[in-house]
Amino acid sequence: MIKLHDLEFEPFISEREITKSIERISDKLNQDFGDKKPVFIGVLNGSFMFASEVIKRFHGDCEISFVKLGSYEGTESTGKVRTLLGLNQELKGRSVILLEDIVDTGNTLVEIDQILKKAEVEDYKVVTLFYKPEAYKKNIPVDYIGMEIPNKFIVGFGLDYDGLGRNLTQVYKRKENKMTNIVLFGPPGAGKGTQAT
Ligand code: 5GP
Ligand code: MG
Ligand code: MG
Repeated sequence: MIKLHDLEFEPFISEREITKSIERISDKLNQDFGDKKPVFIGVLNGSFMFASEVIKRFHGDCEISFVKLGSYEGTESTGKVRTLLGLNQELKGRSVILLEDIVDTGNTLVEIDQILKKAEVEDYKVVTLFYKPEAYKKNIPVDYIGMEIPNKFIVGFGLDYDGLGRNLTQVYKRKENKMTNIVLFGPPGAGKGTQAT
């Protein structure tokens, strides 16, 4: 168990499992893009570790660029995505591989989709290390997925909670307070005014 700011987190995904997912994705990317001279675009800040691991394993010619977008405050998506650092690279006619740490609501993807279409890329594929199918509400295909996870807040391997936790080499999930259910719904037959103690 670890504590970041005011919240407690428990181990969720080991370094070994993360590495296995990355190897699986990298094998596919080498097969599908090995001779296409793709441009990898990492979405900062969260994808920096994932991007580095994927790019290290790519054997063909490639270029690497980053965009910086932000939508999260604390443990919740604000629903509004802001571009904090744009693309300054010519992408017209290029094959782009987008590298995301995690796809949650998909708001960030919609924003990037617009940026890439405007840049007239030849085609692009979305690669994400983590994917929350229960939270995803958009139609943009998520082409390569490392791991599907439940709709829980995670930190580590690039992902932060208000700035902390990005350096953790394994992934932790927010610790659920088992008392919450009891306090919210009460034991069977509990009436108004019952207090959890
Ligand atoms: P979306 O726009 O798909 O809702 O969210 C994408 C971004 O929100 C991710 O790139 C990441 O920065 C942040 N995010 C979504 N889910 C989580 C999570 O469980 N933990 C953390 N730390 N960030 C998340
Ligand atoms: Mg991200
Ligand atoms: Mg964040």
